[in-house]
Order: sequence, then structure tokens, then C-alpha cells
Amino acid sequence: VKQETPKPSKKKDFKPDLALSEYTKERGSSKDLLNLLVIGHVDAGKSTLMGHVLFQLGQVPKKAMHKFEQESKKLGKQSFMYAWVLDETGEERSRGITMDIAQSRFETTNKSIVLLDAPGHKDFIPNMITGASQADVAVLVVDSTKGEFETGFESGGQTREHALLVRSLGVTQLVVAVNKLDTVGWSKDRFDEIKARLTTFLVRSAGFREAELIFVPCSGLQGENLTKTSTETDLTSWYKGPTLLTAIDELKPPERPVGRPLRISINDVFKGPGGQCIGGRVETGMVQPGDKVLVQPVGEVVTVKSITLDDGVGTTAFAGDPAIIALQGVSDANILFTGCLLSDPNYPCRVSSKFQARVVTFDAMTVPLVKGFTGVMHLGSLQEQVSVRKLISQLHKGTGEVVKNKPRCLMKNSNALIQLECSRPVCIEEFKDVKELGRFTLRYAGVTIAAGVITKVM
Ligand code: GDP
Repeated sequence: VKQETPKPSKKKDFKPDLALSEYTKERGSSKDLLNLLVIGHVDAGKSTLMGHVLFQLGQVPKKAMHKFEQESKKLGKQSFMYAWVLDETGEERSRGITMDIAQSRFETTNKSIVLLDAPGHKDFIPNMITGASQADVAVLVVDSTKGEFETGFESGGQTREHALLVRSLGVTQLVVAVNKLDTVGWSKDRFDEIKARLTTFLVRSAGFREAELIFVPCSGLQGENLTKTSTETDLTSWYKGPTLLTAIDELKPPERPVGRPLRISINDVFKGPGGQCIGGRVETGMVQPGDKVLVQPVGEVVTVKSITLDDGVGTTAFAGDPAIIALQGVSDANILFTGCLLSDPNYPCRVSSKFQARVVTFDAMTVPLVKGFTGVMHLGSLQEQVSVRKLISQLHKGTGEVVKNKPRCLMKNSNALIQLECSRPVCIEEFKDVKELGRFTLRYAGVTIAAGVITKVM
């Protein structure tokens, strides 16, 4: 098995302008897709908030909502009826392609939103992190109840940890849902206080730009200011800003890197009626039936026989699309596996075992990170053993400035530049080139201890 980066041969086949014009022709009128992650301290009201949004948007059949209401009443847990919406849709959707986290989709005026669910309980943090590495934008939910905002915001609370995590994974836009404002009589003073404290933290310590933060007062339980302007006069007397949905609608869409060389990450391999198939996601570029693609890291050229898209919108798959692809000319099914790639034969992906990354370590890391440490890297669908080769420098968590060169070890909750090495060559990209193939999490003994972005492939 050959495992090296093939040299680009002829460069004539790649036409970014053509790809873009194809895209505009086929999808120009469709809405931008936005992967949204909901973060925040446990019990901040994340599930209730998003469940109620889905209900108000008509995504939850009346009958199902009635069932949730009855059952939650029976158990004396009526306050959780909206939270159950997410669990239900999660189960229904977890068919076919494996998903660790519940996913739902909803529409705003200009966007199609994919909701990456984030259960707030500590046990679920590993899943939340999976979600974080797919997020374009995030909604941070905080509980404005007296004492509760403070608990979530203190050290040990998840408000800071989650915000730092999404920022370090490249999320720059944040909607802050100042939730449960019904519990403080829709107090403007409380809203302003929370906004001021969070802004200071998010800008100074987490590195967000103030202009990219939107604060929305709301109540997930009462359904106020979620998808329609509130009728609560105690709120409307002082608040004239957007609803939660409008705030989400106004976020900038991520760039769809259609005009870059093809990369398809594979997360499922199976035999279909049409022969050898893969399930995956087009990360960059576009692909059509008849195209030649390179299976990496093995380095074998095969032909695309047919493409099936999620919502059946044609046979061309573009960057951002999940797709099922039937392949022709595969010499051995074993060259296809979860974590491998299909790419443009003339512009292949880097195949390397050594790289530099900027990482953030989590609270859950119980032993300091030192040279020689070995864990498992999760990069998209790839899972690979990696070890720490070098601790290059420790960085300031917000500004990213070097605070110490060549540290001997890294403690929890720190940022650093490190060099990692995999046990064998893998397909990776620098984060600046392909976001999806350039960010990863690091796990040890079943616990996610760090996350990072690849800054240099060596
Ligand atoms: P999560 O852990 O962040 O997903 O929080 P949940 O959605 O499970 O909510 C936790 C608790 O807070 C539940 O009892 C909810 O009914 C309650 N809750 C959620 N949103 C609100 C709100 O806007 N106002 C009030 N008063 N309670 C809320």
C-alpha cells in the first residue's frame, strides 16, 4: 500500500470559476446552510429553548407535542415538555449515517439551519465537542435567574468553557440568548448587567469581536421573543431588537468552498444495489457522475458512478453537501474506510503523519500534557493514534500571544502550539485551507481532553 502525497500531475483539469458558475446555476436561489451549535451551562434552558423554537416553527406535529405534554404532566415534569422535542427528533433522525448528536433542521427567512444539539450535562460534553468541530456559529444560552447566571459563569461552570471551546475551533459569531428573563420580571437592569459581564469576558478573554456578538432577551419556556416579536409589555417597553430567530437569520453564512480542489470525507462504506458505495460529505469543490477521484491515503484513482443527495436536489454534489456516492473501479473494498478521503487526482490532499497545531486543553484533562503523551485524535470521521512530539509554546487564551516558549508541560485550561505525530500517514489539511479537515479533538481514556486546529502540515 502506497501512502505518500502524490505529486500533482497536470493542472489543466481544475476550473474554480466553472465550479462556481455551476454552483450558482444549480443552487444560486437556494438558502445558505448554517451549522449551529447550542452551548451553555447545564439547565440554562438550551433544550427547552430550541425545542420551543422548533414547535413555534411548526416542525413538531401537534399530535407529538400533545403526547409530550401528556407524558411530561404524568411524570410531574411538565417544565421539560419542550426539551423532549429534541430527544424525539434526534432519535428519528439517527437512521442511516451514524450521528452522535441529535440533529434537526429549521428554516429562517434567508437560511437553512442545521441544529447540532448540545446536551448540557457533563456526560455529554464529548458529544458537544463533536458538534463544536462542525459548528459555523453558536448560540450561547445563559440563565438570567438571580444566582444562576453567576453559577454558570464562575470557574467550574460551563459558560466560559464552552465559549472558549467554540472560539478556539474557529467560531467567530455568537448569539447570546439571555434566557429565563421571565424569572426576573423582564428586568432591563439584569439583562444589561449580564450583557456587560459577558461582553467583557467574550471580548477580552475569549477573543470574540464585539460587533459579532448579539444579545437577545428571551424565555424559552414561555416562548417569548423566539420566533415572533414578544407581546410581553415588560420586555417590549425597553427592548426593540431582534428575536432569536431574526438574530440567527442575520448571521453571516460560512463560505462554501466550491471553487477549491475536491475533498470528500468518508464516514460510511457499504455495498449498495449499485455496487461499492460510500457515505460522506463534500468538504470542498464539486463532484459529478463520471468524475475520476483519488482514494487517499492509498492513492488509487476510481470513477464516480452515481451520486445520491440528501434532499434529492440533482446529481452534482457541492461543498457542504452530505452525499452517497457509488464508485466504479475499486480494486479492493478495504482501501475505503471511515476517515479516508476522495479527492481531485490532480490536486490531492496532503498525506502526512506530522503536523503543528494550536490546541486548547480542557478541565477534564487530569494529567498534564507532556512530550511523548499519546492519545486518540478525532478529525472529522478519522480516529487515529497521535503522540505529542514537541510543546512549542504556551499561548494567551484570548489574544493568542506567546506567554512561554518550550513549556515542560501543559496544564488543563491552557492554549498552546504543539507538534503532533500520528502512528501512520493520514489525510489532513491546514485549518486556513479546509476548516473541516483542519480541526480535531484529542481524547484519552475515553475523555476529550483537548481540541485544536492544524496550523502547519509537515
Ligand atoms: P438544558 O440543560 O440547558 O438543556 O436545560 P433544559 O431545557 O432542560 O431546562 C432546564 C430547566 O429550566 C427546566 O426545568 C426548564 O423548564 C427550565 N426553563 C428553561 N427555560 C426556561 C425559561 O425561559 N424560563 C423559566 N422560568 N424556566 C425555564
